[in-house]
Parts: sequence; C-alpha cells; structure tokens
Amino acid sequence: MVKLTFYGGINEIGGNKVLLEDGDRKLLIDFGFPYKRHKLFYEEYLKPRSGVGLLDPLAMGLLPPLAGLYRDDLSTPDLWQRFQGDPLYRQLDGVAGVLLSHAHLDHSGYISFLKSDIPVYATATTAFITKSMQDSGKANFDQQVCYFTPTVRECPTGWSQIACLAGGAKQQRQFCIADRKPEELSAEANSFWSCGFWERTPRQKELISLPLATHTSSAFNLRCFPVDHSIPGASAWGIETSAGWVIYSGDLRLHGKRADLTMNFLAEASSLHPRALIMEGTNAGRETNIAEHEVYENGLKAIANSSSLVIADFSPRDVDRLLTFLQIAQDSGRKLVILPRDAYLLKTLRLLEPEIPDIAREDSLAIYQETIASRSPSLWQRNLFKEYSHKVGLAEDVSSAPHRFILCFSFFDLNELPSLCPEPGSLYVYSSSEPHDEEQEIDFRRLHNWLKHFEIRGFGVPVESNGEWQVPESERGLHASGHACGPDLLRMAHEIKPALLIPIHTENPGFYSEHLSDSSICVTLPSVGKPIEI
Ligand SMILES: [Zn+2]
Repeated sequence: MVKLTFYGGINEIGGNKVLLEDGDRKLLIDFGFPYKRHKLFYEEYLKPRSGVGLLDPLAMGLLPPLAGLYRDDLSTPDLWQRFQGDPLYRQLDGVAGVLLSHAHLDHSGYISFLKSDIPVYATATTAFITKSMQDSGKANFDQQVCYFTPTVRECPTGWSQIACLAGGAKQQRQFCIADRKPEELSAEANSFWSCGFWERTPRQKELISLPLATHTSSAFNLRCFPVDHSIPGASAWGIETSAGWVIYSGDLRLHGKRADLTMNFLAEASSLHPRALIMEGTNAGRETNIAEHEVYENGLKAIANSSSLVIADFSPRDVDRLLTFLQIAQDSGRKLVILPRDAYLLKTLRLLEPEIPDIAREDSLAIYQETIASRSPSLWQRNLFKEYSHKVGLAEDVSSAPHRFILCFSFFDLNELPSLCPEPGSLYVYSSSEPHDEEQEIDFRRLHNWLKHFEIRGFGVPVESNGEWQVPESERGLHASGHACGPDLLRMAHEIKPALLIPIHTENPGFYSEHLSDSSICVTLPSVGKPIEI
C-alpha cells in the first residue's frame, strides 16, 4: 500500500513536508520552514529558543511529532512522552532520504532538524546554493540546512539544560546529487579558494553522485526533472512506487527564461503515466504572467530617464533577475553594484554554470562593502574582498558618482542609506512581490517612510489604497513571478495527466477541484497528518 501524508504546505504557501510510504520504504519530499505558521507566534525578537532544541517547534506545531526522525542532540530522553498523546504522534524510523526540490527555505529550512544520516537528494546547484546561503547568512538553528553544530548537553536529562554549548565540530549533511557525475563535482568543488567549496567544513560528508535509477540507498527508483523557478537548480521529482509513479512538481513556471526545462518535465512526467501528481498552486488565482523580458524592458525605461542613483530591490536568490538588472545596467551605461552575499552566490553558481558572469572580468559588476562589514568581515567576506579587491566599493565611492550605479539593495539593507546620503530624486525600483501579510505591510509602510525621508522616488513600489496593496497602474510589469499562473497550472496538470492530483503550496487548493471536475483527473485535498492512499 502506498501512502502520502502531508505535514505542511496545506492551505499555505510553503512549508512543504510530505511523507511517502510504500510498505516499509519511506521517503520525505521537501522539509520546509513553515513561514505562515511561524509568523502566527514569532517575530524578530520573539523566536523559538535554540537552547531547548526540538521542544519549541514541536510544542508550537511547527514540526510534526515524529519520533525517530530528528537529530538526537536536539532532544532529551523525556521529550517524546509529552507528545505521545498528540494525534499526529508516531514513531518514524528508516526514512531513506529527503528529496529537495530547490533551495528556498520554505522547502528546505527544516531539514536542519532531521537526523544527520538522512541524505538530501538534490541537484548540484541546489546543494551548492544551500551551502552558499548558510555560509553567508545568519542561519538560525532552524535554518541550518547544509551543516550544523551538534548541541552538547550539560545535563543529559533535563530539557532546560540543553544549553547551547555549540563548541563541537560542524557536521555536514550527506547530499546525493541527482544531475552530475562525481568527477565533475570534485573538480568544481575543489576549485573554490584554497580548499574545496564543499569541503570547507570539518567532518564534511562527501557529495555522492550516482545515476538515480541505480541509486540503491533510497531503495526507490527516482527521477529528477530540472524545472524553471525563481532560483537556479530547481527540480521536480518522480518516485516509482508499487502503485505507479508519484510526481512532485516543486515550485515551477512556464514563463521564465528556462521554460524549456519545465516543458521537458511535462513531457517526461506524462510519459510515466503517473498515478499521482503533487502539484503547487501558488498563483492559481492569477490569469496572466509577466515575463522576464518585460521586466527588462520596463526596468530599462524607468532607469534610462534617471540621472541619479538607482536602487534596485529584488529577491536576493533570484539570479535571473540579477542578470536582468545587469543587462539594464550595461544598456544604461551604469555598473550593477551587488552585496557580498550575492557576489558569493554568483561565484558559487559559476562553479556549476559557466554562463554565470565572472565578477573579476565583468566590467559592469562591482561589490558593495557595507559600512559596518568593513570593520569586522567574516572569513568568507575577507576571502571575497581579497579576491575581488579591485571591484569592491564603499558608500563614499557610490555617493561620489551616484548616476553611474544601480545598487542592489532590499528593504533590510536600507540602513546603509545614511552612509550613502542619496541625493533627492534618486530612484528606488521595486522588482518583487506585493506584501502577503500584516508584517510585510508594516515593512512596506516603513519603506515608504525611508523613501520620503531621503526624498527618493519609488517606482513599482506597492501602495495601500482601501486596505489593498497594489503597484500603481503605470508602474507595473517589474516582477516576473517564480510561479505559473492559473491557466498554466491547468495546462501542466492536463499535460501530465495523473490519475490523482493533490494540491500543495497554495491558499486556494479548491482551484484544481473546480477546474478539473470535467477531466479524468481526480483531485484529492490533503489534510494535515491524514494519510492519502493512492
Ligand atoms: Zn520556491
């Protein structure tokens, strides 16, 4: 009997966690950070306590109570007694791996909590991005996807005593690479600074790469299908079960620069005559898409007219967007100035994708060194600044010739503005999505305050009118979503033609039942922790 149990991504965008069981064989599909539920309880200054390990995420319903699944160093012997009465509680041993669709934290974040001997199956690009994000970010204990520091307990019994004596050696997770051969990987991984990019963690696990069809450790026949999404390396997955193929879409679109990848996925998935399709539906309510070339055209139009500093705000891991703005910079006679973490990501991606520009040789690219970072840079920053010393600029370099630059900042980088002293009339181009919740709305109000304070002109920045946040009509077309619109989602479902479709990663799961009722596809809506037999 084949069962699918959903522990996240139900009536919410992200937090996907799916358990697939075929008799004794078990696999997880994504294990994401549940932003929506997390925000119900937590904010910047109120966070789960890392010092009590699994207790907070379990007690607040952020993690499913599945004993046997999580790192031993984060639990105490008495922890599970407390959750045994929970209707979702069960002992879950022998999970063969987690199939990771892409490196967005709402799909990958809670891999941090999984036992370290559960391997992560991913594309090489996804594996490298998870490491690059963790190296260059402030990874909290619940976002340590690629490696973690095991917690050393002071007293073996009391949960209150999981003091974070995080002095132990870092442990890296085992990543099984779906799309590269081991020789290719070691050459690439070892070419990054003095020791290998992947190996720069003590007690590292090697990258294993085997053709998935012959991958015995998972005991499943797997297929990894590259797809187009707003982060490189995204993939859909296929798992052969005793009930037929199960396909998982991950996040995907048909209107991006690599739409051909998604098209190939549709053809290949359809040829497997899948039993079930677990399908995202983020933008089910949208009728149309904006394409990346429109972002280029609209962005260039807005920026070409400006004779002062331009700030471009877009999602940091959206490399397609970064390249779009690089093109805009080149075509408007400016330099694109990126933050060190974006430079580090580009350098990482270039190990795998030679078409990613080489920062050292690309005249239109420069790196912005934050004012504070110049005082105490961390190791990855020191290496970066050393390698690209001729490309690094400070606030005063930008403010001495502001009309020559497009600065890639997001909301959380605005506190550099006092150092930059932007002249009145500078331009802030917003190229991302509208606010989705109250917290983001508050941030947008703050963004407007910053712009007003420095007399910066906003372009494409959503404004509030009658309780709705929208980009002014004449300033639209600056953001191509990572997700397919409703008609494209239906087209994909029809093309793959599964017997059963299970919606995930959407606030509108009813969309599929409504629009597929006259087709041969049966739609089943998941509910938390309730297995669906397929
Ligand atoms: Zn995503």
